Amino acid sequence: MKNLGLYLHIPFCRSRCDYCGFYSIGRKPTDRFVEALLKEMEIRSPSFRDSVCDTVYLGGGTPSSLSEDQLGKIFDGLHRYFHISGNAEITMEMNPCDMSDSYLANAKSLGINRISVGVQSHEDRLLSAIGRLHTSSEAESAVKRAYRGGFHNISIDLMYELPGQSAADFRKSLLRAVHLPISHVSVYSLILEEGTKFAQMAEKGKLLRPTEEESWAMYQDMCRILPHYGFERYEISSFTRNGCRSRHNQKYWTLADYLGLGPAASSRIGHKRFTVNPGVRLYEKELLLGNLPGEEVENLSPKDEMEEYCFLALRRKEGIDLADFRTRYGADISRWYEKPLAMLKERGLLKEEKNHLFLTYHGAALGNFVFEQFLLD
Ligand code: SF4
Repeated sequence: MKNLGLYLHIPFCRSRCDYCGFYSIGRKPTDRFVEALLKEMEIRSPSFRDSVCDTVYLGGGTPSSLSEDQLGKIFDGLHRYFHISGNAEITMEMNPCDMSDSYLANAKSLGINRISVGVQSHEDRLLSAIGRLHTSSEAESAVKRAYRGGFHNISIDLMYELPGQSAADFRKSLLRAVHLPISHVSVYSLILEEGTKFAQMAEKGKLLRPTEEESWAMYQDMCRILPHYGFERYEISSFTRNGCRSRHNQKYWTLADYLGLGPAASSRIGHKRFTVNPGVRLYEKELLLGNLPGEEVENLSPKDEMEEYCFLALRRKEGIDLADFRTRYGADISRWYEKPLAMLKERGLLKEEKNHLFLTYHGAALGNFVFEQFLLD
């Protein structure tokens, strides 16, 4: 049996956050959507009869916008159509506003064993400035409630470089986070995604961003405070304690196979990547007529894959395993990247040790610059 990751995209949110570039719509999922998702499982699953799903991830959007009953139907479908491993990591993203005792108990009974909560900040004024509907204390209570309810693998998301956020605000968030009963933190800087309200405000010069000095102070605090409280940085944006790395996300970073279901979900199977077209209505219509929805297919050339392999591997603490690179691509990495490697090492952004090539402290801060050097054209 081959291993497979399963990703379910639930593209519904109570309201749209001002910075978000993911595909989602501002309403609750209907039973018709759930029916279409089950139909997609039925149509796609025969190609994966020889696979065992060792990770399942419900992301979005806001998967916790599903009712308990809808979630139950989705899990019935997962078990009916796929072989889910008995020790699969099953993650669900949850909004603090949805995490009642009853909702959590139902999720647990369905086999969900990892929760990811979008805490984002511990300052209510910042939460409201980015369009989040929950307060900081609601998010903290939800995390504690989940832990008391038996979820001992909880991840939270935090954001920095938010408009109006000072280094002291972010430090406070980090210090509050480390005292929560969590085993994982994903920390993201605010990216201005095209088409979002924040990108439009920035274009008009109306978005207050932290200065370079403030951003650097936030980055340094993240790298200092989280390890001090036992969190290992195992990926450029991901920190864990108790060894609870995200098994599902590691599939993305190691080019492993995963199947995405739902509007706008992406899959990677072998050398092929495909993304279902966004658009909930069309998705439902096609599937309920028995057809797969439209998708964009990309056949990855060896060059595309090698570039992707390099920058995804560099995101991880272990970096590029040079022996693995040689086995995959038939020659030493220097055959393609001699000059960029020399330049990045010279600038102290990359380091080679024990046959691995990885980002230094400064390299991780300038990740995008480093990754660009691995594009061959
Ligand atoms: S950030 Fe999350 S909750 Fe906010 S709009 Fe995007 S997907 Fe929805």
